[in-house]
Amino acid sequence: MAVPEWIKHHYPKPEALREMKSLLHSLHIHTVCEEAKCPNIGECFNKQTATFLILGDICTRKCKFCGIKKGIPLPVDYDEPQHIAKAVAKLNLSHTVITSVTRDDLEDSGSGQFVATIKEVKKVKPEITVEVLIPIMNNENLRRITVVAPEVINHNMETIKRLYPEVRPIYQYDDSLNLLAEIKSQNPSITTKSGFMVGLGETETEIVELMEDLRKQKVDIITIGQYLRPSGSQLPVVEYISPSQFKKYEDVGYKMGFKYVVSSPYVRSSYMAKEALTNAECPIKKGDKK
Ligand code: SF4
Repeated sequence: MAVPEWIKHHYPKPEALREMKSLLHSLHIHTVCEEAKCPNIGECFNKQTATFLILGDICTRKCKFCGIKKGIPLPVDYDEPQHIAKAVAKLNLSHTVITSVTRDDLEDSGSGQFVATIKEVKKVKPEITVEVLIPIMNNENLRRITVVAPEVINHNMETIKRLYPEVRPIYQYDDSLNLLAEIKSQNPSITTKSGFMVGLGETETEIVELMEDLRKQKVDIITIGQYLRPSGSQLPVVEYISPSQFKKYEDVGYKMGFKYVVSSPYVRSSYMAKEALTNAECPIKKGDKK
């Protein structure tokens, strides 16, 4: 399938990449930017921002769209929180996103490491806003995170319900929706966020149904991006969705009442994360010029 002109690859400035990578590697930090082969790495590293990946770089799940390594994870590195706090200070970040692989091998699903990292980051930069993109976990493990109240908790739906067995096996659509609802019920002050890809064979109606399901769980922010194949080992792209269709989803999202919608081909869950939070805190009223 020919790649349309709006899916142009932006080649990052090598020096920006090198600088950022040497800092991150000197602190033994993984990023989802590198591990998941994010197309925006150039833009973000150039802006000296990144999404930190804790709990190692090996996942216990087997999502068919994801470029991250799968298998038996390494033991937890309890120095990660300090390393990330150092990077946050060095990069002088005002907003930071922390995510992880799924660790079904850990009793606390990794929630303890999220809490330790949030606390270390807030210790070095109390005014920073923290966003965590978490894997599935039970309510007890989730509560460890909601009580330390990061400003944003994100959990991705990734795709529509019908495609879960093929695209996101092991995960259950309703479990992810319930997790998003549970965040709000445990701590209503937290901004909730979710993201999904398009171009995996879903219909417009199915995407609107997914958005309605997310609104029912009082999700504040959504991100919608084009699925791009990280390598030949992942699922092929079924369709390249047009920029006008992304705009249509954005408009539908605001009509549904989402506080902020980030919708365009290159959007990923933590793309423009700071802007999304800032705008969600003062939502666009219908008809306001963006
Ligand atoms: S759970 Fe996350 S990191 Fe693991 S395979 Fe799925 S998308 Fe990738």
